[in-house]
Amino acid sequence: MISVEEALARILAEITPLNAMQVPLSEACGLVLAQDIVAQEDIPPFANSAMDGFALLSHDSQPQHGQPSRLRITGGVAAGYVADHAVEEGTTMRIMTGAPLPPGADSVIQVELTRSEGPDSEWVEILEAVPPGNNIRPAGEDMRRGQTVLRQGSEVGPWEIGVLATLGWPTIPVIQQPHVAILGTGDEVIDVDEPLRPGKIRNSNSYLLEAAVRQAGAVPHRLGVAHDTVESLREKFTEAVRYNLIITSGGVSVGDFDLVKNIMAEQGQINFWRINMRPGKPVAFGHIGGVPLLGLPGNPVSAAVTFELFGRPVIRKMMGHTRLVRPQVDVIVEDGVSDRAMRRHYVRARVEWRDGHFVAHTTGNQGSNIMTSLLNANALVIVPEGGVEVRPGDTAKAMMLDWPEE
Ligand code: AMP
Ligand code: MG
Repeated sequence: MISVEEALARILAEITPLNAMQVPLSEACGLVLAQDIVAQEDIPPFANSAMDGFALLSHDSQPQHGQPSRLRITGGVAAGYVADHAVEEGTTMRIMTGAPLPPGADSVIQVELTRSEGPDSEWVEILEAVPPGNNIRPAGEDMRRGQTVLRQGSEVGPWEIGVLATLGWPTIPVIQQPHVAILGTGDEVIDVDEPLRPGKIRNSNSYLLEAAVRQAGAVPHRLGVAHDTVESLREKFTEAVRYNLIITSGGVSVGDFDLVKNIMAEQGQINFWRINMRPGKPVAFGHIGGVPLLGLPGNPVSAAVTFELFGRPVIRKMMGHTRLVRPQVDVIVEDGVSDRAMRRHYVRARVEWRDGHFVAHTTGNQGSNIMTSLLNANALVIVPEGGVEVRPGDTAKAMMLDWPEE
């Protein structure tokens, strides 16, 4: 049996990011940039007004003999247009937010600090002196031509999309999204729309994993459930090897019908198949037909937890992410963990910030078949291997499932 850390290291050593591709800008959200993005233009591309007001020479805004200065309005410039003449001494032009600064002007005064007789007025009084550059957004204030604005490996979110649109990228170079085959196993497992029959249970794992794979950023493909026969598994794996990653649940333990490892050995290789943890000791990793295969345990909680620990980082690495694992924090375990486990124990818990500390409450029965104790959990409290006891009020590490990877 290997440790969780060794298992993760051995898995990730076998995983490489997928190739780059171009996607339309509007489909890039959630994907990872395959190259640096360098600005080809200054942004904003031209000096423009930050306010609706009047463009003028700043020294013309000084009061004259204690009276507000009066300037002649020679025209106007709206956003999207350029002035057809310059602002000269003693004159001004109306200007709207986002409109290019007319030649000659070095300052803009907002309309609220002026007085005129309506939109047709030929004269305006300047009620306050303004310095040069007032309310002007200079060219290149936000981004400079030649500047690296986004780095390869960063995730594209809505704000990055806004920046990419500004810089004129209709398609974006990103790392491909992994396609993940999800395979259930077990003669007892029937689909969700089938009535329960004696001895049968519904397939929770495939649906849980489908959602978790999607949430991790990959495209899931549910391939149904293989029977506990070598033939059935072989048939399903023939289909599964068309994807970038195969995730199975069940059939990797030591029972008579735990045949996933047999097929792995027959058609590929097994790297390891047991991890010193619970829930989820039987986790197998290897390759089949050149495709990485992560064999998760059958118990739904074990499948869920081991996906978080191993499946999600694999998908993130394939997607080009460099931050692969969830952060850990110190928490006070208010209710303690009563069962001393020899294996590393990942305890479902709810962590909250209270009075300057993170406090954890376990979410109930920690049996690996008890799905309801997943429901309120946002963290896994980590009880070290070797029968360590966590008494109420003790401090432990918790892996935060609702915090971004670091
Ligand atoms: P196994 O590792 O195949 O022995 O499965 C361990 C436990 O998980 C058994 O109780 C199985 O019935 C259960 N199990 C296996 N696959 C699924 C599944 N897809 N959905 C729900 N429970 C499952
Ligand atoms: Mg089984």
